[in-house]
Amino acid sequence: GLIQRGMGAYQRIDHALSLPVEPSPTRAPTARARTRTPTGEPGRCSGQHQEAALALRDLSFGYTPDRPVLHSVSFTVPHRRQTALVGRSGAGKSTIFALIARFYEPDSGSLLFDGRPSTELSRAACRERIAVVDQSTHVVHGSLHDNITYAAPDATDAEVRRVVELAQLEEVVRRLPGGLSGMLGERGGTLSAGERQRVALARALLARPALLLLDEPTSHLDTINETALTTVMRDAAQECALLVIAHRLSTVQHADQIVVLESGRTAACGRHEDLLTTSPTYRRLAAGQMLRPADTTPLTHDD
Ligand code: ADP
Ligand code: MG
Repeated sequence: GLIQRGMGAYQRIDHALSLPVEPSPTRAPTARARTRTPTGEPGRCSGQHQEAALALRDLSFGYTPDRPVLHSVSFTVPHRRQTALVGRSGAGKSTIFALIARFYEPDSGSLLFDGRPSTELSRAACRERIAVVDQSTHVVHGSLHDNITYAAPDATDAEVRRVVELAQLEEVVRRLPGGLSGMLGERGGTLSAGERQRVALARALLARPALLLLDEPTSHLDTINETALTTVMRDAAQECALLVIAHRLSTVQHADQIVVLESGRTAACGRHEDLLTTSPTYRRLAAGQMLRPADTTPLTHDD
């Protein structure tokens, strides 16, 4: 059912999801038509000549000086590719997202957006390139249309149709009484957890971000939602650079590149099949609880 959320959650979602709040006329074209210069960085995790929407270079960070969390993390997030970030709980995945969104600044090392150091860009300029979808529930009181457009109320019908299609929400529009303008919750329609996630994705994609950060749900999704989410990620990656904190085997199998994080260090990087043979850390993750095919995930845990 619909979960009503308090103001705190609202603000946080607004903060995280609506980073590009004002649909400025110059932003959408520049975000993607910008001349892309190869970073020239021999990134540890990407081909040397691959252009990157984002590069992390020897990034170190701790929330407090006495306890470092990230140790010289380096990898690149190429345009129009899916990059998966995997690692045990506490490895530092969410911290990396927080640094990319510039909620914190690194202690050392650098972040480069399209080859430009973040220190040369304003926070607003960095966030203009980014959309974040995390694991919280994103439905607010209103219609499906309101939920998709509340960060961009001036979006045209064509833009809304585009993201409805991209986010695999057409079936939801058909099913809801009143369709796109039908109310959600109360006497209106309800959305599954997977559908709510895709509403959040539609909202994020409406801003045409250069970089989409997705913290994949850890909770069980049914097979239909799982397949839909995989399709959304594939299609979104045609438009932007996708960095996803991955918990599902289907995601890592489809990823162009997987960055393995272990205790705040980049332990390995590569594709699923390669990492299975080259990275003991990745093998442990894949064999253990972190990455599991959803269709074999038990609905009730007996451990
Ligand atoms: P992951 O997302 O991979 O589970 P996190 O980035 O959330 O890992 O956490 C990495 C480490 O940083 C953990 O040891 C965690 O306890 C710590 N940490 C996370 N957020 C904060 C915070 N806001 N303040 C202090 N320590 C934090
Ligand atoms: Mg996390």
